[in-house]
Amino acid sequence: MLTDYLYNIKSKHYETRINKSPNSHRFPNIFGLGDCISLPPANKTAAAVSVQTAVLKSNLTSLMSGSPLSASYTGYSSCPLITSSKTCILAEFDYFQTPPKPTETFPFNQAKERRSMYHLKADIMPLLYWQGLVKGYWRGPENLRKILYAFSFL
Ligand SMILES: Cc1cc2nc3c(=O)[nH]c(=O)nc-3n(C[C@H](O)[C@H](O)[C@H](O)COP(=O)(O)OP(=O)(O)OC[C@H]3O[C@@H](n4cnc5c(N)ncnc54)[C@H](O)[C@@H]3O)c2cc1C
Repeated sequence: MLTDYLYNIKSKHYETRINKSPNSHRFPNIFGLGDCISLPPANKTAAAVSVQTAVLKSNLTSLMSGSPLSASYTGYSSCPLITSSKTCILAEFDYFQTPPKPTETFPFNQAKERRSMYHLKADIMPLLYWQGLVKGYWRGPENLRKILYAFSFL
């Protein structure tokens, strides 16, 4: 039964209300995240899950305390594109940003193939996945981005 509803999430604001069909009765206490929800044009990635986790946590907490659901998903997603045996492009997106544009975590041009991005993908991301995402600690790169950009102006 629940899987029928999971196909029909329409809220890009990621209140994560799950509708049985558009404009039908809503189920305000059912939430979802990850590949099983459909929020086009955002991509289904583990990177998206990390950001959705923070939104979900915030909105669940709000719901339980009777507050409005204020957190919303930006459509963040990312994709490490391996371009050679030692280079990678880390593509990042915020799909619901208007106008849509790449959201770069690092204060340099990420469109360039880089060895550092290769090591990020090959050596750091597995750790981030197993020790961070799976255990619920990694909530996406937003805080890291703020720190890196703060230092980039020094
Ligand atoms: C080849 C490949 C490369 C990828 N590379 C990247 C990448 O570089 N970066 C990135 O961010 N994302 C990447 N992704 C996407 C990423 O793996 C997924 O977006 C992410 O795993 C989604 O997590 P999830 O928890 O929503 O779903 P899943 O990881 O699919 O977890 C769902 C779980 O539910 C279980 N399940 C299914 N049906 C049932 C059932 N009826 N009862 C009980 N359990 C069930 C499944 O066995 C599975 O363990 C890649 C995906 C693929 C396929």
